[in-house]
Amino acid sequence: MGINLEIEISIDDIRLILGDRFEQEYVRRIYQATCTGCGRHYNAELNVSQIWLNHIGDVILEGTCQFCANPLSLYLEVSNFKPSFDQAMAIRDLYINVLKNYNARLAGS
Ligand SMILES: [Zn+2]
Repeated sequence: MGINLEIEISIDDIRLILGDRFEQEYVRRIYQATCTGCGRHYNAELNVSQIWLNHIGDVILEGTCQFCANPLSLYLEVSNFKPSFDQAMAIRDLYINVLKNYNARLAGS
């Protein structure tokens, strides 16, 4: 069921997924976004409004630029790190098969 779906997750979920790497992989990344709206390269700030977990265990952060409100997104290759991949899949399974109450969309939408 829903193999290619992206599932909306929370900031607490991403903390669990990244563990000790949360500061490095999440916090630092959102302050190093690139924005075509205001032309900042690696120093725009992503104001995150939604976090999506895809079917291969990677995470997409979506929101707007803190400086110019242009829509921005970042792709976090969470699945490269085995403990994070395992945690991501556990959270995905929890939403889909246990909680059964989540936002989902087709991949790439
Ligand atoms: Zn901007």
